[in-house]
Amino acid sequence: MDHIRRVVIGLGSNVGDRLQNIARALELLRADEELHVTEVSPLYETSPEGGPAGQGDFVNGAVLVLTSVDATDLLHRLQRIEETLGRVRVEHHGPRTIDLDILWIEGETIHEPELVIPHAQLAARAFMLRPLLDVASDASDAESGVVFGELPLASAALKRA
Ligand code: ADP
Ligand code: MG
Repeated sequence: MDHIRRVVIGLGSNVGDRLQNIARALELLRADEELHVTEVSPLYETSPEGGPAGQGDFVNGAVLVLTSVDATDLLHRLQRIEETLGRVRVEHHGPRTIDLDILWIEGETIHEPELVIPHAQLAARAFMLRPLLDVASDASDAESGVVFGELPLASAALKRA
């Protein structure tokens, strides 16, 4: 157990009823008594970046969570929700019912093979950065001091889902 701090979790879906998948993930996050979902971003429709050709567009969003669970514990909780919602890991960056990523943990940086915080792609992907800023406009990298709202992609326009 750690101290209570803000965490932003990114949600993405590009298979089946994407809005329904995100809604169910949100329900399961809210059902976890150790996670206090305090804000939900708008949802955006985005083209796939990387991964196999021909996969469908994503719906992406993010939630702000207050929690004291440590980062690895949180990752495992998210992976259980992905499994509950029937995500099958076939291809890296491939189609998925639901993808739950830890985008940011206030005051923490982690560089482990299984977990990189802030998310390694955050600065390069508007579909992560935009919803993160919607729910944590002041977020910054605890190590580099980079303020995410000042990154070039922070002002990228995204289509609302
Ligand atoms: P994607 O990179 O498309 O999200 P996966 O969801 O299958 O692909 O994740 C692959 C691995 O990424 C996971 O097994 C997890 O250990 C690792 N990972 C590293 N950093 C993070 C993070 N910040 N949030 C979620 N998973 C992460
Ligand atoms: Mg993931």
